[in-house]
Amino acid sequence: MIKFSRLGSCGIITNYFCSSKCKHCMYASSPKWPKDYMEADLADEVFKTLAGHGCGSVHIGGGEPLLRPDKLFPVLAAAARNDIYIEYIETNASWYKDDEHAKEVIGKLKQHRVHTLLISIDPYHNEYVPFRKVKQLIAACRRYNMEVFPWQMEFWDDLAAVGDDAVVHSLDEYEEVFDEGYKLGLARRYGLNLRGRALQTYKHYLNDQPVREILDRSSPCRELLGIHHFHIDLYGNFVPPACSGLALDFRDAVNGAAPEKYPVYYALATKGIKGLYEYAVEHHGYTPKDHCKGKCDLCYVIREYLVMQRNLVLPDLQPTWHYMYM
Ligand code: SF4
Repeated sequence: MIKFSRLGSCGIITNYFCSSKCKHCMYASSPKWPKDYMEADLADEVFKTLAGHGCGSVHIGGGEPLLRPDKLFPVLAAAARNDIYIEYIETNASWYKDDEHAKEVIGKLKQHRVHTLLISIDPYHNEYVPFRKVKQLIAACRRYNMEVFPWQMEFWDDLAAVGDDAVVHSLDEYEEVFDEGYKLGLARRYGLNLRGRALQTYKHYLNDQPVREILDRSSPCRELLGIHHFHIDLYGNFVPPACSGLALDFRDAVNGAAPEKYPVYYALATKGIKGLYEYAVEHHGYTPKDHCKGKCDLCYVIREYLVMQRNLVLPDLQPTWHYMYM
């Protein structure tokens, strides 16, 4: 039975809705998601559980956590109550309006023991957030003594060179300004994990493979048993490192997740893609395709079939909006 007695590094997904629909987003965030945030009661339960399993610090991500600071502060207060240190909050800077507003938000974040903002700097975000906002937020952080974790400085010069920093720029513009292979090279430079929306963005670059060969190579997906850089979301889902759209209730993750309750998760964790394929064919009438772009593509195709075509609400394929708003 899957049961994590100790937990490593954790991120809290306070909300999935976002100002942007970035092409690299593993969690498939976008403005379409419900405007839900993690509730304070759940946050207390999550932080207490983390503290009891050896995890004393978290980062906060989303979605864009700072779209509704008033909804974020109760989560931060719960972290403080449970002695959980906030390493940083990830932000895309889209919420920046002016210096006065930034000063107020930064001041309140500091009161809630937040000392660092991870600020996204890359062409994916620049399709939705003007570079000027990023620079203005960094300047405000410096002025009001908030540490900045720039992610990633490697792209600063690209953003500076692409054009007017007051407006957004598409990846097609980057290809025009730099070179034709820019989009593909960007994935490599960024160190992109090709799962979630990132896989959908880049799958046409991948070669077709016979499904039979993919199944023959199947091995357990160890990613689902990782305890480092996992996330817990606002719905109480334990989201495994590297694979989005899959979940265990976080209480089950630490107390014991029964195989009968989580057939998809177990199939993948114990047999890999072949396990999921057999489950979908035997129990849900999945009709196999001949080719796809690799095991993670096949995994998504089958999971999407279960959620979107069979309308199954399975506890291990959560949140279902992940599939709806891909
Ligand atoms: S096959 Fe599915 S579970 Fe396994 S690594 Fe790929 S996306 Fe994750």
